[in-house]
Amino acid sequence: MTDAPVPLRLFNSLTRQLEEFRPVHPGEARVYSCGPTVYNYPHIGNMRAYVFADTLGRTLSYKGYKLTHVINITDVGHLTDDADAGEDKLEKAAAERAQSIWDIAKHYTEAYWADVKALGIRQPAHWSIATDYVPAMIEFAKAIADRHCYELDGGLYFDTTTVADYGRLARHGTDEGESRIDPVEGKRHAADFAIWRKTPAGETRQMEWDSPWGRGAPGWHLECSVMSEALLGFPFDIHTGGIDHREIHHPNEIAQNQAHSCSTDSGARMWMHNNFLVERSGKMSKSSGEFLRVQLLIDKGYHPLAYRLMCLQAHYRSELEFSWDGLGAALTRLKRLVMAATSVRDAETVVPSDRRLTDLLARFDAAISEDLNTAVALTLLEETVAMKKIDTGQKRGAVEVMDAVLGLQLLTLSREDLRVRPKAATIGEDEIEAILFRRKEARAAKDFAASDALRDELIAAGVEVMDGDPLGWDWRLAN
Ligand code: AMP
Ligand code: ZN
Repeated sequence: MTDAPVPLRLFNSLTRQLEEFRPVHPGEARVYSCGPTVYNYPHIGNMRAYVFADTLGRTLSYKGYKLTHVINITDVGHLTDDADAGEDKLEKAAAERAQSIWDIAKHYTEAYWADVKALGIRQPAHWSIATDYVPAMIEFAKAIADRHCYELDGGLYFDTTTVADYGRLARHGTDEGESRIDPVEGKRHAADFAIWRKTPAGETRQMEWDSPWGRGAPGWHLECSVMSEALLGFPFDIHTGGIDHREIHHPNEIAQNQAHSCSTDSGARMWMHNNFLVERSGKMSKSSGEFLRVQLLIDKGYHPLAYRLMCLQAHYRSELEFSWDGLGAALTRLKRLVMAATSVRDAETVVPSDRRLTDLLARFDAAISEDLNTAVALTLLEETVAMKKIDTGQKRGAVEVMDAVLGLQLLTLSREDLRVRPKAATIGEDEIEAILFRRKEARAAKDFAASDALRDELIAAGVEVMDGDPLGWDWRLAN
């Protein structure tokens, strides 16, 4: 094992291969992540996409690159179907709730930001808001309209046969590809998509702008081409999104980028996609069953970083099945890590020089540099915190390096922060502690009848008393 840093290799969806990361601008990493459509709360599956993007960003920082990360907020243009059918998700939500579309966007953007914070996702350099870029989108569309677009009653459409190799990211037209694009009346080819959607005669939308193709709103794919170029240049390094975006949204962005740059350049050196979080019953959805939001996890008493750890246990390119048991196990694992890390909490950080630590750091580097192997990286962090008879300052130094990549906040979280305490609980924490104190006194006085009665009182209030719990949890509230 050597201590030399290994190159960062990442899986590029364009080539379906691991490739060494070679930045466009030496020493820098410029990353764009497709952000949420703010018409509803994000579910925890959506948040997996940002835990992944954040882990990628943290890894790039750890590898020494100056990171510029952009996440956009889609507050216009995303239809109820990715492939150009249906209504604008935000207009629909606003009409259904008789509310201003701007208020809806603001409310759900703030809810998303709260989840970002709860999951320890670092703030990107820019949150780009789609509606701020509509004039730039119109300019972009004007530049490609003559050679690549045609007009229909519904607006301006992109002719996907005008660019080389349309759909290569999705492997359209091959066995690997998943063609599921609905035909829209009048389109020349099924895959053609809207660049500008005209407001139908006699209707008004809450969000509409004048354009050479009539009053209306931009197509969804346009915003990411425009904002990524405006904030990161062309081309930039890495574009991320969930695996669904590999099929329609990103091929369409690539087509726009090729048209606008008059080249075959996709716009990003690498396109990376996280796989889905699924439920046992299948695909995660905002409308069916229990709506799994970060806030629901918190309300049931789970610390949100347990969900982050759950994501890190799986590789980002594997499907991950959510279950409450799985989340509970992740919480216990996080708690063990936090407890073990208390031994270094008060130490002064020292750069590790002990061979055992430098070996662990080298193995950590190798794991995270190989397409973000967070599952292995986690076990190495566990080995590090568990290490005995070692300089605590050096140990702290190693834990800091690893935790900066994994983002579990091991040095600031406390055991108590991780205690399961559902919102619906009828008993307060102070009250539980008070009863437990009385019970301790009763036991010390060998008054077992009183001690049992106090225990029963706690059980009746939904509190499980955990005598001798190895994690020192003492009690937990049933959820
Ligand atoms: P949306 O708000 O629908 O545009 O989605 C936001 C992000 O979440 C996109 O990158 C999607 O690809 C991603 N995404 C959607 N569903 C899931 C899921 N179940 N698991 C992981 N990522 C998802
Ligand atoms: Zn996008």
